[in-house]
Amino acid sequence: MKKLLCAIFIICFGINNAVAEEVLTFPIYVHIVEIDQNIKQTQYKVDSNDKVTSSSIKMVPYKTSVTKEIIKKDFLKLNKIWSQANIRFHIRDINFTKSETKNFKKYGELAFKNYDSYSYIDTSLRHLLEIIDHKRHDNERGINAYYVPTMLADICGAWDNDNNIMIIGSSEEKKFNPIVKLYGKCNRIETLAHEFGHTVQLDHSDISQNLMMSTGLDVDMGTNLTKEQIIEARKFMKKVLGK
Ligand SMILES: [Zn+2]
Repeated sequence: MKKLLCAIFIICFGINNAVAEEVLTFPIYVHIVEIDQNIKQTQYKVDSNDKVTSSSIKMVPYKTSVTKEIIKKDFLKLNKIWSQANIRFHIRDINFTKSETKNFKKYGELAFKNYDSYSYIDTSLRHLLEIIDHKRHDNERGINAYYVPTMLADICGAWDNDNNIMIIGSSEEKKFNPIVKLYGKCNRIETLAHEFGHTVQLDHSDISQNLMMSTGLDVDMGTNLTKEQIIEARKFMKKVLGK
């Protein structure tokens, strides 16, 4: 009986403690990047052991297929994950934006210089980089999140700290990753939640099932945050929000 009472006390205390913490809200501007064209992409053929037998470059459809309704639902799920830190990402606006093609190459080299192994970078990358280049000064009032069709073969989302810009692939299609030799897909909600972790200045974590794990497509990274991460994220947000 004593043990039961103690457990109840701890649970109640936990809940009360969470409620007492002020909810911190970040303004978010969502842009659906209107892309609807065919692009070059490497397609892999594999045998029964998932060994690549051949690869070929094909023209495939590259189209942003999310709607405002889908994005609103994404943010409901995203905010559920972040409620463990009493942090909320509030959509101020969702608009459609055109992608323009100019001046992206140099910035691309800078942004992706650490990804040496990506020798098969295809034209989809160009769209991502041109968005960063085109919108780099449009970040005065909050975080800009850009929905594109899909990202590089094994990147699901990206955060550009210098320009307050997040890019997220909207496709959750399963595909073959030739580097880790596995099939996988991006989980859009977990990717969004992870990238927003970077927006509040959290680094990657090795802890299993942690939201900030940096994993490939094959591993479910989880949605947990540690006490330390929550403290760090809230501290940063309070600073930004002037609290
Ligand atoms: Zn990351």
